[in-house]
Amino acid sequence: MPELPEVEALAGYLRERAVGRRVDRVEVAAISALKTYEPAPAAVSGRTVTDARRYGKFLAVVLGDDLHLVVHLARAGWLHYRESFPSGGPLRPGKGPIALRVRLDDGSGFDLTEAGTQKKLAAYLVTDPAAVPGVAKLGPDALAADLATFAGRLRSRRGQVKGVLTDQTVLAGVGNAYSDEILHAARLSPFALSDRLTDEQIAALHEATGRVLGDAVSRSLGQKAAELKGEKRSGLTVHARTGLPCPSCGDTVREVSFADSSLQYCPTCQTGGKPLADRRLSRLVR
Ligand SMILES: [Zn+2]
Repeated sequence: MPELPEVEALAGYLRERAVGRRVDRVEVAAISALKTYEPAPAAVSGRTVTDARRYGKFLAVVLGDDLHLVVHLARAGWLHYRESFPSGGPLRPGKGPIALRVRLDDGSGFDLTEAGTQKKLAAYLVTDPAAVPGVAKLGPDALAADLATFAGRLRSRRGQVKGVLTDQTVLAGVGNAYSDEILHAARLSPFALSDRLTDEQIAALHEATGRVLGDAVSRSLGQKAAELKGEKRSGLTVHARTGLPCPSCGDTVREVSFADSSLQYCPTCQTGGKPLADRRLSRLVR
């Protein structure tokens, strides 16, 4: 799932490439992806792209001064910038990976795509980004929060730190992949309880959040849009590396189920050498 660094890079790319261009038209191929019907997609035609912004993991394309195309890419969504589109008529609604196409006046544009059969990509055409429920509920941005804000937000919610860190209403932008990386960098157990973290642990977590996200943003910004891939991140230390050696200590990266997915961590770096119990598994074998 694209998280803060990937969405930031997409916004940066759009600012560079699309700002100043006029929209020819928007074609909606996956009707269910567009969550709003007023204003209609036709209202976008003739508008100039004035900015591209990020709200947590949401991407917003600003059209003129009061229209926003806000997109949540969900688990398998992505934005593909095209220098040109194949000739032929408009997209036909169907079951393909393209949910939405935005054509610009120089023949270029972008497709919002979603792989797989689970269609969760959500697009909203709104006059105010706060009209998007997920945007209105966002906590402070994880990359912008200072230590006091960060500490206050984390301690406001009691739970396993992995879950609290990925709760978009607590802090915006961190998902499954980067929370694994941040917790590893902070040498914290993903199951540590958020309201029992010491000041030192909170400070380490805040520092790690800034460093891990900042590094990932720098890496992403150096890539061309065609090379930006939500699921092919470079520089990961534990996430999606189950069974491989931890780059810090050489221990084997382990995996445990968490929520509806799984998390990866290093026992030596994060849990005093003890593997975490997989609750789902122990329930099964009980
Ligand atoms: Zn380690």
